[in-house]
Amino acid sequence: MQTAVDIAAVASRDGVALVPVGATEQHGPHLPVSTDTEIAVALATAAVERVTPEVATWVLPAVAFGFSPEHAGRPGTISLSAETLLALVDDVGRGVAASGIRRLVFVNGHGGNPELLHVACRRLRGHLSLAAFAVHAPGLPLPTGMLDDVTHGDRDAHAGHYETSVMLTVHPAAVDLDTARADGVTAVEERANSPLRPFGAVSVPWHVDDLSSSGTIGDPTTADAGWGARALAAQANALAEIIRAVAADPLPPEWLHSGRGERG
Ligand SMILES: [Zn+2]
Repeated sequence: MQTAVDIAAVASRDGVALVPVGATEQHGPHLPVSTDTEIAVALATAAVERVTPEVATWVLPAVAFGFSPEHAGRPGTISLSAETLLALVDDVGRGVAASGIRRLVFVNGHGGNPELLHVACRRLRGHLSLAAFAVHAPGLPLPTGMLDDVTHGDRDAHAGHYETSVMLTVHPAAVDLDTARADGVTAVEERANSPLRPFGAVSVPWHVDDLSSSGTIGDPTTADAGWGARALAAQANALAEIIRAVAADPLPPEWLHSGRGERG
């Protein structure tokens, strides 16, 4: 937790603000609805430990709701509208800029958010002169050997091996492995050769009901806390590299001479 004095020091050191962004949505019978938020917070926290004290950082409270229409209608899902999420993160960016900080990283844990966060970053650069970036945390690289352990990618999309393993290391008491079942894998594989497959080159507005009765898309029964800890560490290292790069990235010269007021 940081005070206003701490945050002023982050600004004076030209530091980086990090905003974990998650979701509140069903994650099968075995994971909490806060899973994406918990993973985003864990990754941001672990990455900041790695860059401190080299880079000054402000980790903001997480945005615990995301854009989750693909899980609408299932108990536990609270989706923001696209417009609300865009307005929310824009206001967060406005506060970061008003605090004197020029660099912002959204650390996102939910697959429905990246497109909107990309738009948000464009807008924040344009009208607030913020160097804003969005990192999709589950997409951060894993060591090659680890990918062999998991039915990865399309077949591990939601509440499967990756998320269950990471939650087993971050919040083990919140995971109910007794109720974990593989689901959705067959439905994804049946569509694997279709141009309209979920998660392919064509943007398909899939709904979880298309693929899974339990709400899981993947196989959480293979989840392992040790695997989760190694995944989290590898991704925290990758995120730490991104934070260092954001901190070192030259800002447009005109920003340095302009006032902090909004443009456009
Ligand atoms: Zn998730």
